[in-house]
Amino acid sequence: MRAIHWFRRDLRLNDNAALSEALAVNDEVLAVFVLDPHLVEAKNQSPARLAFMYAALVNLDIALQSHGARLIIRRGEPLAELTKLMAESESSSLYFNRDYTPYARKRDGEVASELRGAGYKVESVKDLVVFEQTELLTGADTPYTVYTPYKRRWLERIQAAPPIASTPDFSHLQVKGGAEIISLPMPQPPAGFENAWWQPASEAAAQHRLKNWLGRLQDFPQPPGIGTYAKHRNLPGLDATSHLSPFLRFGLLSPRQCYRGATNARERAPGSTAMEGCESWLGEIIWRDFYYQILWNFPHVAVEPFQKKFARLEWSIDKVHFAAWCEGQTGYPIVDAGMRQLKTQHWMHNRLRMIVASFLTKDLLINWQTGERYFWQMLVDGDQASNNGGWQWAASTGTDAQPYFRIFNPVSQGQKFDPDGTYIKKYVPELANVPPKYLHAPWTMPLALQQHVGCTIGQDYPAPIVEHAAQRAKALALYKG
Ligand code: FAD
Repeated sequence: MRAIHWFRRDLRLNDNAALSEALAVNDEVLAVFVLDPHLVEAKNQSPARLAFMYAALVNLDIALQSHGARLIIRRGEPLAELTKLMAESESSSLYFNRDYTPYARKRDGEVASELRGAGYKVESVKDLVVFEQTELLTGADTPYTVYTPYKRRWLERIQAAPPIASTPDFSHLQVKGGAEIISLPMPQPPAGFENAWWQPASEAAAQHRLKNWLGRLQDFPQPPGIGTYAKHRNLPGLDATSHLSPFLRFGLLSPRQCYRGATNARERAPGSTAMEGCESWLGEIIWRDFYYQILWNFPHVAVEPFQKKFARLEWSIDKVHFAAWCEGQTGYPIVDAGMRQLKTQHWMHNRLRMIVASFLTKDLLINWQTGERYFWQMLVDGDQASNNGGWQWAASTGTDAQPYFRIFNPVSQGQKFDPDGTYIKKYVPELANVPPKYLHAPWTMPLALQQHVGCTIGQDYPAPIVEHAAQRAKALALYKG
């Protein structure tokens, strides 16, 4: 029996649930990736994500070659391309791992029903998350909308039945008859990302990063790892998070591997700090699942607030303010540093994502969806469930969001989380010589000092584009209204 494994955002060979199942029950499995124009040619597609995905496809093909197989690349509507391929390759079954976005649900539903109608077997498998859809429900049989009880349930369930790693037999992987099945050449990644921080985007590199991260249980001087995560995760100057998000986004590693790794690391932890680090990091993997089940159970969040009472807030449409935010020119150093990190690294530290999202929605009073879109275009790890969840959390419109009256002060956030300005100075070099006392509010520097340190406000670095206290009052009135 011959089957096709349709790769999508599971660009790895190991611990890949649908691929393992296909290999277990078929004599031959063909590896296929379809370049869907709706995604790869979308106007708001992020060049960074495309670059990552194309690099990952090239590396997946290399990994397949080591098992005597190749990745078959097609371009077009997935349903049409898969229908042709099933016939051309004389395959009887199609396997893929489930995805939970509104677009993927519709696409996969159509593919499954058409191919089943044509007599093929279609198997979709859970892989992208640890618990999916309605697997975890409250006592009242409703989806969770609050993280803490969800997390409790998640941990109970996984401890009761830990996920088992699959041991696939790759000898079944092959391309039927070699050249018979036409494959397009590997897609060319957009230029400019050859030396990006995430390179190489391969399964082997992802595993290596994960192993290093989990192996670092001690405190400094070693580079930050899981052991110090709880202690340092909010300090962007220390850069003490895993940076695994793009690898998880495209499935170069699985959340089950993260779970197993964090649990094993916890067992080896040399003390309470390291144990807390492991637990806290696992908590983030659970947040990821949480937002997927929100998107699945409440798909309206993709286009409107989860809390519908906030659907008609009168947001500002000030394009000058929005452009200043995008460019990292708001005059608030911590906000500007975050936005410049996004622009240059196509990634941003989580604390900064929260700060800049709060600033856009509560200081500039601009709709969170405008920010969500901009992040989507920029992020290498852009993921609809987490991006939407993060934005709605910051805008106080989502599930388990921060209350609308809790508004981040961009000056005190900087003082608290980047006290010595290491992070700010990295991305906002104009402020390099500003004394720590003024770094988070440089407009308060006496003029003579501004001139002395070569940072005249309004000339070398912008004056604040809005006044926080006044905007805070406006935001409260907006939400109350
Ligand atoms: P670590 O801190 O090492 O965490 C490990 C993994 O857990 C991450 O790689 C990620 O997969 C997951 N994770 C961590 N924090 C969260 C979270 N709050 N919600 C869901 N999953 C989490 N994350 C994305 O992967 N894609 C996005 O598009 C995205 N957009 C966001 C937008 C906003 C406004 C906010 C506030 C957060 C967003 N996040 C997003 C969540 C979080 O900021 C990133 O996952 C994290 O910064 C990635 O860095 P890391 O891999 O070093 O994370």
